[in-house]
Amino acid sequence: MATQAKAWGTKGPHERLEPMAIERRDLRPEDVSIKISHCGICHSDVHFANDDWGMSLYPMVPGHEIVGTVNAVGSAVGKYMAGDRVAVGCLVDSCRTCEQCQSGEEQFCNQMPTFTYSGKDRQSGEITKGGYSSQIVVREEFVCRWPDNLDMGRGAPLLCAGITTYSPLRRFGAGPGKKVGVAGLGGLGHLAVKFAAAMGAQVTMITTSPEKGEDARGLGADDVLLSNDLEVMASAANRFDLIVNTIPVTHNVGPYLDLLKANGVMVIVGAIDELPGLHGGALVMRNRVVAGSLIGGLPETQEMLDFCAEHRIQPETEFIRIDEVNHAWDRMLKGDVRYRFVIDMDSLNEAQ
Ligand code: NAP
Ligand code: ZN
Ligand code: ZN
Repeated sequence: MATQAKAWGTKGPHERLEPMAIERRDLRPEDVSIKISHCGICHSDVHFANDDWGMSLYPMVPGHEIVGTVNAVGSAVGKYMAGDRVAVGCLVDSCRTCEQCQSGEEQFCNQMPTFTYSGKDRQSGEITKGGYSSQIVVREEFVCRWPDNLDMGRGAPLLCAGITTYSPLRRFGAGPGKKVGVAGLGGLGHLAVKFAAAMGAQVTMITTSPEKGEDARGLGADDVLLSNDLEVMASAANRFDLIVNTIPVTHNVGPYLDLLKANGVMVIVGAIDELPGLHGGALVMRNRVVAGSLIGGLPETQEMLDFCAEHRIQPETEFIRIDEVNHAWDRMLKGDVRYRFVIDMDSLNEAQ
């Protein structure tokens, strides 16, 4: 007998989210059952719900920025016990044996990782269901330990927005003496600014929204560039060692590439799409690099949480009730979020 859980989900592309009763599997020996307290809303939730990437499975319960408390563990679980504060991000399983898994990069599992939602459970074949829900059951290797001095509700967005920006900043050496630009001040972008500043880099926010300039400085940016002012962009040519580009849609990357110094790197984390304006000359003539980055593996996700605890880094969040989730998605698509929505799962009890 599986356990009944409350959830909100969608039955097909471009449909609204609605209440859904779902089942969580009985605990396998290596499973951890988690009572979810909060779940962040990621822009990818909307991309997945609308099948923008052609891989969506329905019914879909989104949510991969999950925090909560362990309420039961399987017989072989050694790492966690009931009452522990834990978190789950974008992955709930992988083959665990291939070269990528063995090196802690489960997101690149050669046999496809199992995503937290819209994936297929490796044993039963059932569609995985995410964190817009009261409970989740996950293998212990894919559960992170929540640091004592981090707030759980506010911290939920670290599980995707956090690791997705922390990982490329580390990989490309953000730190003292480096000039880092962050394009797009949303959920990912605001954490990229906080991380890069905490790592000791000089940070510039590159935004389409003049009104966000003051916020960016408050988050740790030393400077702000308005990307739709081409004169301002031209005056900043050859400035950055690294740009983390979180823009969620296809866009002309030419003006952003021109901002890179010789040997500079632009990491695409937002647009899983064609990138018009990518001219070989802009790369060749200055040894520039265009890179991509996908979330992060489990060891690095735990490292990122511990980094946040040590450096007192918390996302900027707006808490919502589950029955406000459709409205929150609409607001996020309009850029009207400062800077991540987090659903309080206690509201599930009142909303259904
Ligand atoms: P978000 O909160 O909606 O923020 C995106 C920001 O990008 C907006 O606030 C806006 O900032 C800017 N922007 C939006 N439309 C733009 C346009 N047409 N041109 C230029 N700038 C634009 O989204 P998010 O949750 O941070 O996610 C960002 C993207 O990363 C999404 O596509 C998401 O699917 C993807 N993602 C990727 C990974 C990964 O592993 N690679 C993980 C998580 C999310 P300004 O107002 O400052 O311009
Ligand atoms: Zn995400
Ligand atoms: Zn693997």
